[in-house]
Amino acid sequence: MVKESVIVIGAGMAGLRAASLLQEAGLQVTVLEARDRIGGRTWTDRSMPDLALDMGANWIHGIAGNPLYEYSQQLGVVTQQWDYDSYRAYNAGGTTNNLISEGSERFMPALSRAVAGLRDSASVQTLIDKSAAAGELAAFSQAEIALLASQTFSNDYGLDASRLSVSALDEGGEAFGDTEVVFPHGYDALASALAEGLDIVLNSPVTAVDYREDTNVVVKTKTQNYTASRVLITVPLGVLKAGVIEFLPALPSAQVAAIDALEMGLLDKLYLRFDKGFWESDIHNFGYVNEVPARFPYWLNLQPVTGEPVLLAFNGGEVALQMEGGTDADVLAEAMGVLRSIYGEYVPEPMDYRITRWAADPFSYGSYSALAMGATPEMRCDLAAPIDNRIFFAGEATHSQHPATVHGAFLSGVREAELILLLSRHAPRRKCV
Ligand SMILES: Cc1cc2nc3c(=O)[nH]c(=O)nc-3n(C[C@H](O)[C@H](O)[C@H](O)COP(=O)(O)OP(=O)(O)OC[C@H]3O[C@@H](n4cnc5c(N)ncnc54)[C@H](O)[C@@H]3O)c2cc1C
Repeated sequence: MVKESVIVIGAGMAGLRAASLLQEAGLQVTVLEARDRIGGRTWTDRSMPDLALDMGANWIHGIAGNPLYEYSQQLGVVTQQWDYDSYRAYNAGGTTNNLISEGSERFMPALSRAVAGLRDSASVQTLIDKSAAAGELAAFSQAEIALLASQTFSNDYGLDASRLSVSALDEGGEAFGDTEVVFPHGYDALASALAEGLDIVLNSPVTAVDYREDTNVVVKTKTQNYTASRVLITVPLGVLKAGVIEFLPALPSAQVAAIDALEMGLLDKLYLRFDKGFWESDIHNFGYVNEVPARFPYWLNLQPVTGEPVLLAFNGGEVALQMEGGTDADVLAEAMGVLRSIYGEYVPEPMDYRITRWAADPFSYGSYSALAMGATPEMRCDLAAPIDNRIFFAGEATHSQHPATVHGAFLSGVREAELILLLSRHAPRRKCV
């Protein structure tokens, strides 16, 4: 019997999870990946040989009952609980900002008291303004509000409050609890395990998906055409928005509308490695209250995870986009200015650093999807809708319960693999017990 064939476009967590399930069930699977590596936005840089630096995803957000965490435990991958409570906010000049250090959790409740009466089409900035007008934020200065908004929205959603829809705050569905873990030896262990035994063709950016014929779908790269009975597309929303893959015929209008309205948020990272630590070793997270909008608002002390004096700084939204336009030297100079403002002029230059520029990445064009003004949660389902039972979509942006996460991507891969298997009448192989 001829095996049913499936082409999976993209070797990130969604594509690899789907491909491994489909192959396990007996289908013939080929994965086409644009980059020279697998993992997509889970990417561990090992160019400093003694360090595993995660340039994309950092945490599993919530481990209680989270299938991704369970998978990592089955594999025996080392994870470490991240201590968010160990947090201190500093003002310029290095004094501790007690209000933010001890009261940052008062921010969201203050906003939610103002949510009543706001339409889904409102921006999160409207929510902040309404809360401020109602006196809910009276305790905070403008710079403190900027820091909280940056940490809560520009970083976590990748979009500034002025662009983020209030309906984004309801996304997330069933939660997996508050405990979060990081990967001391790299997040890439999960992608590597999923990729075992798969036929993955690297360095193969797909340029077109032609489903005009009734039988096979033709997937084109610059050098080769591939055919299969079904195709699963898992490229990031940013790649779909950029229109680099031509669809023949064009995608249905609901899908096009979803691609247009959903946005790619931006979060960038800067790792700084020092000869020795000069910060409080018992503080694992720190904030910097200074400007409006906040720049370098959130830092991690990675010494407890890596055993080396390493700091990780985050910037999100417009500030991150603007920084991507600068040189490495510009970004480093600004970061060092922040550290010297907090810890004093004696702070030494870093021995080494790594910078991400996810907006400029041609195989992502951003960090993760977000509900911008005008987008609705239902659009994620429009994006995920199969066409003709031959073209399927997975990836974090298509998961309405857990968008913008690795576990959302993983679960979207499971969802589409199960659908393809159902349509192919290939029941998943029974596990040998
Ligand atoms: C800086 C940063 C921090 C993050 N932090 C976290 C976190 O702490 N926790 C968390 O849960 N999530 C986090 N995320 C989000 C998480 O990484 C993603 O949601 C998830 O990895 C997406 O998986 P995916 O399979 O949907 O997409 P991807 O991993 O992007 O996979 C898609 C694949 O498609 C490939 N591709 C693109 N174009 C083409 C083409 N034309 N042809 C063929 N292949 C193509 C890409 O190269 C990529 O390998 C973070 C992301 C970033 C960028």
